[in-house]
Amino acid sequence: MGRQRKSLLIILILIAVFLLPACAKQVNKGEDDNNSKDKIIVYATIYPMYDFTKNIGQDRIDLRMIIPPGSDPHDWEPTPKLMVDLEKADVLVYNGVGMEPWLEKVVNSLDNKDLILVHASEGIVLNRFDEQEEVHKPHEKHLGEYDPHVWLDPLRAMKQVENIKKGLQQADRANSEFYENNYQEYISKLTDLDREIALETSRFKKRQLVVTHAAFGYFAQRYGLEQIPIKGISSQEEPNAAKLVEIVKLLKEKNLNYIYLEKLADPRLSKVLAQEVKAKTAVLDPIGGVTEAEMKQGKDYLTLMRENLQVLKETIGE
Ligand SMILES: [Zn+2]
Repeated sequence: MGRQRKSLLIILILIAVFLLPACAKQVNKGEDDNNSKDKIIVYATIYPMYDFTKNIGQDRIDLRMIIPPGSDPHDWEPTPKLMVDLEKADVLVYNGVGMEPWLEKVVNSLDNKDLILVHASEGIVLNRFDEQEEVHKPHEKHLGEYDPHVWLDPLRAMKQVENIKKGLQQADRANSEFYENNYQEYISKLTDLDREIALETSRFKKRQLVVTHAAFGYFAQRYGLEQIPIKGISSQEEPNAAKLVEIVKLLKEKNLNYIYLEKLADPRLSKVLAQEVKAKTAVLDPIGGVTEAEMKQGKDYLTLMRENLQVLKETIGE
C-alpha cells in the first residue's frame, strides 16, 4: 500500500468513526422531532392556547407549551430557560387579558426581534415590543375585574383560533393554505360544540353555578347561566368572610346542591363550605391547564368542554 493510499484510508476511517455516529444521531433526532429543523418554532403559554395552536399547525409546526401540565396557570413563574428558548422561537401565542402577568417582562428582555406575538384574545398580531401594553389591554369585566378566561366561551374561542391562524400564516406563508384548511375544520368542531352546549344548557332546571374561582364568566354569559365564585378571577385569591357568608346564604336560598371543585386548585375551602351547607361536590374544569394523565389520554379542549357539560347535566341539569 502506497503512502498516499494509506493516509486516504486513515482519513476514511476517521470520517467513519467521527461522522457516522453524528449522522445517525441527526437522523434519530429528526425522527423524534418530526424534522423540526424545517418547522417554525411556536410557543404557547397556557394549555388552551397550546391546544388551539396544535389544531391549526398540526405536524407542520414545532409546538411547545410554556406552562407545564399539572400547574395552576394563575400560579406560575417563568424560568431562566424560557428566556433562552424564546430567543430561538418564531411565534409566541398568549391568551392575554392578565392571564400571563409575567409575559411583558420576559418579552421585553428578549433580543429576538423577529418573534411574532399572537395576542389571541384581542385580535392583534404583534411583532413589535413597543406595543406590549396590549398584553394587559382591558377585555371585559366580570365581577368588576378583567376576566382572562376567554376560551371557556366557544364563540370567543373561535376568535382566538382565528388570531392564532393569522399568526402562523404570517410566520410561515408557505403553509398558509394548510393552516387555513385546518382552521376551517376546527371551527366547524367548535361550532358543533357550541350548539351542543347551547341546546343542553337551555333545558337546565337550575342556572346558578357555585364555582371555586371566577373562571366561568364568559361561559355563563354565553349560555345564560350565572357563576357564583368562592374565590375571585384568580384561583390564588382568598375570599373574605363576608363573601363566604353571602355564598352560604345563596346556596340555601336557591336550593343549590352542588359546589364545583377544580382539579388544579386547592379544594379545601370549597370542601369545607360544601360540608357547612350540606352540599355535594363535583369537578368543573376551567381548562386553564391539564394534567399529565389527561394529556396521555389524549384529552383536549373539546373533550374537556364536553366533560364539563356532562357534569353540569348531572348536577343542575335535571
Ligand atoms: Zn382561572
